[in-house]
Amino acid sequence: MTDRDSLTCYRKDDRGILWLWNYVEKIRVKTGYKISTLLHYEQSPFQEISIVETKGFGRMLVLDGTPQVSTKDGFIYNEMISHIPIVTHPDPKKVAMIGGGDCGPAREAMKYAGLEQIDVVEIDQRVTEVCRLWLTPASYYEHDQRVRMVHRDGLEWVQAHKGSYDILIIDRPDPYGPAKKLYKPEFYQHVYDCLTDDGVVVIQSGSPFYNTSTLKGTVNNLRALFPIVRTYLAAIPLFPSGIWSFTLASKKWDPVQADLSRLQHTDTQYLDPEVFRSAFVLPKYVRTIVDEGATEGR
Ligand code: SAM
Repeated sequence: MTDRDSLTCYRKDDRGILWLWNYVEKIRVKTGYKISTLLHYEQSPFQEISIVETKGFGRMLVLDGTPQVSTKDGFIYNEMISHIPIVTHPDPKKVAMIGGGDCGPAREAMKYAGLEQIDVVEIDQRVTEVCRLWLTPASYYEHDQRVRMVHRDGLEWVQAHKGSYDILIIDRPDPYGPAKKLYKPEFYQHVYDCLTDDGVVVIQSGSPFYNTSTLKGTVNNLRALFPIVRTYLAAIPLFPSGIWSFTLASKKWDPVQADLSRLQHTDTQYLDPEVFRSAFVLPKYVRTIVDEGATEGR
């Protein structure tokens, strides 16, 4: 049993059509995704893994009933979580992604020739194998000698690799199951310690519209450790509320002063220099959440 069974499920309607229902309890909203084919379904030692073909979003990776990435709009999330920290740091060499999934962020990082090592830390080897089979063949990333797939717990990995990475990308699912520990205050301290002296980290910090506490908690924990903390937004149709936040924290480099000539955007579909800059301009209600959080402390 996952602690999410009650919230999400596959159901057939009265015409026998299969739907995936994702219920977001905090805002009492249920989002339905019409399924043309359920391609894969299993219970791994960590979570329920499924791959579905849908009418609206192409093929989707679904974990514990929650859509993680789709072939239709996955480029938005994966471009925004990867390029921004890699370009914020002027000359990164070693990057680690905590949470591999379909390795979308790793494929974006591979566009930066200056990177020497790209570690993908995924706790669930079955997710890697299922994604290779149904979403992105390993050939798309494992031909690159810099990419190393590591099937370990991300918290243990950052604890064991102090001062090792210029960039950390924390591509965590919502706070349940094996990802819960990636939301605890001590995890942020281990992230800080795992970075080099001028390291940069980006953490997906949820929807500012209904994950308010996740956004506040992420900002507050990072502000307690880093001199520079900035939240940025992207419009991601797959996720409930359609608006998603990422929070960047840096020991030295400020993203708003990044050298955007380094941005590899010839084949991106969402991010370019103007979007990079404007993503950090927050609507007033989001600024209030972020600033309010600062006064509330961790
Ligand atoms: N953006 C990715 C893609 O392109 O597919 C999706 C990543 S998905 C949001 C998050 C991943 O983190 C899942 O594959 C899940 O198995 C993994 N995960 C959850 N808890 C983890 C932990 N403690 N350590 C490492 N990986 C973890």
